[in-house]
Amino acid sequence: MKKTFFTPGPSELYPTVYKHIKTAFEENIPSISHRSDAFHEIYQNSVSTFKKLYNVPKDYRIYFLSSATEGMERILENVVEKKSFHFVNGAFSELFFNTAQSLGIGAKKVQAKAGEGFDVEKIKIEKNAELICLTQNETSTGVSTPMNDIYTIKKNNEKMLLALDIVSSAPFVDIDFSKIDCTFFSVQKGFGLPAGLGVVILKPDVLEKVKYVKKKKKSLGSFHTFENLQKYYEKNETPETPNVLGIYLFGKVCEDLYKKGLKVIRKETIEKAKNLFNVVNTAKTYSIFVKEEMCRSKTVIVLDVESGSKSLINFVKEKGYVVGSGYRDLKDRQIRIANFPQHSIKHTNNLRKLLQEYSDK
Ligand SMILES: *Cc1c(COP(=O)(O)O)cnc(C)c1O
Repeated sequence: MKKTFFTPGPSELYPTVYKHIKTAFEENIPSISHRSDAFHEIYQNSVSTFKKLYNVPKDYRIYFLSSATEGMERILENVVEKKSFHFVNGAFSELFFNTAQSLGIGAKKVQAKAGEGFDVEKIKIEKNAELICLTQNETSTGVSTPMNDIYTIKKNNEKMLLALDIVSSAPFVDIDFSKIDCTFFSVQKGFGLPAGLGVVILKPDVLEKVKYVKKKKKSLGSFHTFENLQKYYEKNETPETPNVLGIYLFGKVCEDLYKKGLKVIRKETIEKAKNLFNVVNTAKTYSIFVKEEMCRSKTVIVLDVESGSKSLINFVKEKGYVVGSGYRDLKDRQIRIANFPQHSIKHTNNLRKLLQEYSDK
């Protein structure tokens, strides 16, 4: 049976992906050279369509990597000489922190309790930190940090760079890119694409810091240093043979999202989230995990399931809907439901009905 995936990544594909893959194969895209004009055109189209969709300034750099996890490592390697500072409130922000430690960077962190946000005005960031690392939407717990809080952090620490993980909130989250130095995501969540492509958005000034770090450190990595990525970016290429099909599909889906309009997508996302969260008013087995509404994610809905989540997950699966379990130790107590642009209002309504039906049984 064809299932509908409400898992927070990989997730349901954007409805046009199959059509674009078919076209790509008809046009030999998986076989073309990554140094050919045909590829340059694909690359250029994907970069410019993405910038148009997400309101990214023209002079910002877009680098294609293999994943968001690689994005964390490359940003840390290239812009930090000695110290980073991390806001940790779940598994993915912790991964960012652990990555810094693995690279031998002196990483410090502030830790929030699971399901809670940060009181940003009260947090003291080490004076000599060079990079502040934040996960805008913590996929493991469904906590999202309001963009205004993130701008405040940047304003209060102007000399430091800020790196923002938007993997499970892009393209829903509205970002003023002039205020953020490095932003990154991978495409298998809110862009509804097959996994295998990471995207980094870099403010041009950041390359000055890269030059400085290069003078101070023995190595910034090998083929995917920001200097090397920049050199190839200027030629509409990547240093290695990239995920050509992925880059092509990314451009096509960005075009489709642009046609629908992020304004419409954002409005629908808010309505679908409201509909799902409201199930707690009519079905007694569920409660909302993130208590504070300000930091409750609209793209990853996390519900506590009093009767345990395992049999609920099986129940909806039999009806054709796949939802995520809780993360790690919350696995059997919670469900996580993705609410991305590819999740239609109709399917979301159906899922909500199933949640109700399960509770009423
Ligand atoms: C899924 C996810 C990642 C990891 O993405 P990969 O593409 O698997 O590297 C990182 N951060 C967040 C917030 C995520 O949800």
